[in-house]
Amino acid sequence: MNEITLWFVFYKDQLLMVQHNDGYHIPASEEPPVKVPIGSTVHSIGNLKGMPCKAYALHTPISGEEAPQRVMMGLRASYDHLPFEEYYKGGKAFEILNWDQNTRYCPSCGVPTHQISDIGKKCPECRQEFYPHISPATIVRITRGDSILMVRARNFRGTYYGLVAGFLEAGETLEECVHREVMEETGIRIKNLKYFGSQPWPYPSGVMIGFTAEYESGDIKLQDEELCAGAFFDRDNLPEIPRKMSLARTLIDDWINQ
Ligand SMILES: [Zn+2]
Repeated sequence: MNEITLWFVFYKDQLLMVQHNDGYHIPASEEPPVKVPIGSTVHSIGNLKGMPCKAYALHTPISGEEAPQRVMMGLRASYDHLPFEEYYKGGKAFEILNWDQNTRYCPSCGVPTHQISDIGKKCPECRQEFYPHISPATIVRITRGDSILMVRARNFRGTYYGLVAGFLEAGETLEECVHREVMEETGIRIKNLKYFGSQPWPYPSGVMIGFTAEYESGDIKLQDEELCAGAFFDRDNLPEIPRKMSLARTLIDDWINQ
């Protein structure tokens, strides 16, 4: 007999969930809840609540008529509906499926790769190995006395303000990345840079590394291509802030609660 397994089933970024009396969950069953398509690999992605977790991708979305309690929802949106640990594991599943999709052929030889472990593939010709690439980005909460620097990036969806953030460049330390991004985006210098915490960001394969810092010197000069607004705000005068799911929000909430 097969074990009860949690099945993370994606069609593109849409995650399959089932509705129970207490809300939505990842389907749990012995057999896959939807037939595994030919050419789709079932990936082991660890355990949750004592159950093995597996992930695979569909080539077409499921139709709601077959099973009305089933729904497919974008991973970001699922944060508002799934228990946190199920959403969190869904992020890992999405990263693994994205890696699987993008490493089907060796980039040097063009031949199909072989899977050698849960998170490893190998080219049978040149023996090169491929593991999931994670893109690190830093984010920093900058305070000046009782105020916090909030910026509005041109590529933000919605109307909220966030914190200064940016991708790590090759050959750079995380600290250098923060100082560079703050200077490039706002023209100010910061001091007392301290590590705060990190968060996987599976959109599609990032990790956010959060810092806190204090304003040191300089006038705000926004980088026009990336930011459309930015200023120091008091606690009782904050603009709209990011959603609960982000590390930006955790950093801001931590400051609000100080
Ligand atoms: Zn190769």
